[in-house]
Amino acid sequence: MHVVIVGGGWAGLSAAVTLCSHGIRVTLCESAPQLGGRARGLRWHTHTVDNGQHLLIGAYRATLSLLDTIGLDHRQLFQRQRLSLHLIQHGQPAIGLHTLRLPAPLHLIGGLMMTQGLNWRERWAALRFCVQLRARPPADDCSVADLLLQHTQPAALTTRLWEPLCLATLNTPIHIASARLFRRVLLDAFTGHAGNSDLLLPRTDLGRLLPEPATNYIKQRGGTVRCGSRVTELSYGNNRISSVRLDDATTLECDQLILAVPPYACGRLLAPLPGCQGLVDQLQQFTYSPICTVYLQYPESVQLPTALAGSAGTLTQWIFDRRTSGQPGLMAVIISADGPHVSLDQDALATAVQHELARMFPTWPTPLDRLVIREKRATFLSAINITRIRPQAHTKLPNLWLAGDHVATSYPATLEGAVLSGRSAAQALLAAAS
Ligand SMILES: Cc1cc2nc3c(=O)[nH]c(=O)nc-3n(C[C@H](O)[C@H](O)[C@H](O)COP(=O)(O)OP(=O)(O)OC[C@H]3O[C@@H](n4cnc5c(N)ncnc54)[C@H](O)[C@@H]3O)c2cc1C
Repeated sequence: MHVVIVGGGWAGLSAAVTLCSHGIRVTLCESAPQLGGRARGLRWHTHTVDNGQHLLIGAYRATLSLLDTIGLDHRQLFQRQRLSLHLIQHGQPAIGLHTLRLPAPLHLIGGLMMTQGLNWRERWAALRFCVQLRARPPADDCSVADLLLQHTQPAALTTRLWEPLCLATLNTPIHIASARLFRRVLLDAFTGHAGNSDLLLPRTDLGRLLPEPATNYIKQRGGTVRCGSRVTELSYGNNRISSVRLDDATTLECDQLILAVPPYACGRLLAPLPGCQGLVDQLQQFTYSPICTVYLQYPESVQLPTALAGSAGTLTQWIFDRRTSGQPGLMAVIISADGPHVSLDQDALATAVQHELARMFPTWPTPLDRLVIREKRATFLSAINITRIRPQAHTKLPNLWLAGDHVATSYPATLEGAVLSGRSAAQALLAAAS
């Protein structure tokens, strides 16, 4: 059996590795010159940075298991630390939340009760919210803002804790973000094993984390990886996909096909096929949200007091110290979703962020270099009722499967969602073919 996988992001790689581990011959086609998709490494002068700083958590079981499958030791790949959130507001420490070294849920209860920057009423409200969320899911989906109102969360708690958490996890503002998905994310991180809420900070760039070792794994098992190969057309006959056409006019025969591309690219490939109009319409309903990363290179001695810090009331939302990835002095500043930064050009945005950091850390010198990366369609927008449009892995065609972070999993657009979807598509294909 020959399986063609279109898309070399983490979903496509996950599908390819799963199939190779079952002795299936795969060809992976990626249109970009390198693998990784929205989680890739890129060259900047002499070093490699990421297209955007990524953070994983201990609950990302499928991702950790994928790394195990290709023979990597994730204890070496990540700096793992208990959840520790430091939020700065107007240059002053606003919130300090740390989970405790206790079994779940005591690790969170204790952490919330000791949160610095919240008064007792706010601490109690946050704890009550978590308990009630666990006990009963919202009957109908609504916005996270409405959910917080229903649970009478104080306004200061919303702005300082829930709003930054919602933006960081769903990349969607609270007034339109799906309450159901937010609940799922909180439950995944905070219930079950205490380690689920641990933060996993990559010690290397994203390219070396998965795409490079996964490519070796696939090739060692007889698979083929073709970068710079855009699939332009699917050939259809007898209710099956028989081959794919590439932009260099070559044709690849296939027994099975996995489309691991974002909804807009998937819709384009499926549109000419008979019987796929319903799915194409569904894919067209996805909307997207940007993430912008501003890298500021300071002298190597410059260090954040913690590996990451949040900031409220500024363009800057999160600052990651890339010392963790072996790049001392390099700060990655993350700005999720839409906002006033979108209308600033690269230079103006880098300058604005640089001034914000100068106010937060007055002893830091001027940065030596700056880089702005904007990912316009970083994630799908996790809006109210998003689950209604997320497609399943199987389609009406018996040899066509879908993967990608947008496919129906319990996760928002994340690495874990992408990896889970790729593994599920591969497993469904194997079950159907056996
Ligand atoms: C800046 C940024 C920060 C993020 N931060 C986090 C984070 O901290 N934690 C987290 O878990 N997630 C984060 N995410 C989300 C995460 O990166 C994505 O959910 C995940 O990478 C999606 O993987 P995917 O394989 O589903 O899609 P993609 O990565 O988009 O892969 C699809 C691939 O298909 C290729 N392709 C498209 N059309 C064709 C074609 N016709 N032929 C061949 N190839 C094609 C594309 O080039 C692409 O490589 C972040 C994303 C961004 C952009």
